[in-house]
Amino acid sequence: MATKGKIDPRERDMNVPKEQTVAIFRQKGGPLSVEKAPVQKPQKGEALVHVIYSGVCHTDLHAMLGDWPLDNKLPLIGGHEGAGVVVQLGPGADEYVKVGDRVGIKWLADSCLKCDQCRRGHEPNCSQAQCSGFTMDGSFQQYAIASARHLTPIPDSLDLETASPLLCAGVTVYRAVKEARLTPGETVAIVGAGGGLGHLAVQYAVNAGYRVIAIDSGAEKEKLARSLGAEAFVDFAKEKDLVQAVKDTTADKQGPSAAIVAASGGKAYEQALDYLRPRGTLVAVGLPPDTNIQANVFFTVFKALHIVGSYVGNRQDAIESLDIAGRGKVKVIHKTVGLSSLPDIYDQMHAGKIAGRIVLDLDK
Ligand code: NAD
Ligand code: ZN
Repeated sequence: MATKGKIDPRERDMNVPKEQTVAIFRQKGGPLSVEKAPVQKPQKGEALVHVIYSGVCHTDLHAMLGDWPLDNKLPLIGGHEGAGVVVQLGPGADEYVKVGDRVGIKWLADSCLKCDQCRRGHEPNCSQAQCSGFTMDGSFQQYAIASARHLTPIPDSLDLETASPLLCAGVTVYRAVKEARLTPGETVAIVGAGGGLGHLAVQYAVNAGYRVIAIDSGAEKEKLARSLGAEAFVDFAKEKDLVQAVKDTTADKQGPSAAIVAASGGKAYEQALDYLRPRGTLVAVGLPPDTNIQANVFFTVFKALHIVGSYVGNRQDAIESLDIAGRGKVKVIHKTVGLSSLPDIYDQMHAGKIAGRIVLDLDK
């Protein structure tokens, strides 16, 4: 039975101010500035969401550094793990949401819902896709404009603070666990297991009945990953022969059946194909800049390996991943700080020092 999440008193405030606080940057590389900005009016199909909490994803840092081979909107208000309440609707938006609904702003802000990719449920691959905090302003602001048809309903079982990191990190790794196509009892390596995505991936994998080997670095992340159900931990910074160390954690020394690479560093991809057991699957999730997966053709064929890219999830993945967390199967390990701490959070994230997720309270 689902329990009820805590209701934040701010959820009941339907008053829309003229001005709000936002975190914005105007050029690649920053600087990031926390300042006042006008609240926008929702247009056709749009809702105005009072964002109360937003998670901080490593993608937000990539966007600010401009280190991906894609251009984002500039100036940009980042953020794509927003949790809040609908406070105003543009024309036609009432088909999807109503004022007072608790909703989430995820990375995939919009897609056409008419093309073959959308019809097949591959909404992130729609050629018309819009991304929150990348091609349009995101959730690092108190009042965000969102396409109503892509908002995620937040179940009563979750409080908004806990729900926010699920809207990118949770959805993404839940989908990645599906893409690994394992059967219960098989072993998966979660690479970057102590990070925002990784600590949730450990739990979605355990919940699906898989055995987990966690790969990351440091005592804090090891403790976290083990506490969430990982049976083994390999420290990528300490281990001289990481491939052998990962294989050694499996009883037959053949290695895991899948590796979900949710690391922000490119090195993580180097060894993954070498420690997978025959017929293993590499699920590429982490997006380090300038990184190639080097796959030896002979061994890819000989070991019958699978290499799969996994890009966030669709609306249904969002609903399922939140539901699982709402039923207490997945815990969001986070620390909550104010919006003005964001530059400092980015520094810590760049240095790999954050275990779990950072959540911003937009009113702090
Ligand atoms: P994070 O900073 O919270 O976590 C990354 C973790 O990776 C850290 O714990 C770090 O110690 C670990 N790490 C770094 N190098 C490693 C290595 N060589 N081996 C093992 N672990 C290593 O970041 P996050 O928010 O979890 O995001 C992770 C990556 O996933 C980012 O590149 C982000 O842009 C990407 N991402 C992809 C999708 C998608 O749809 N595919 C969605 C969201 C985020
Ligand atoms: Zn993200």
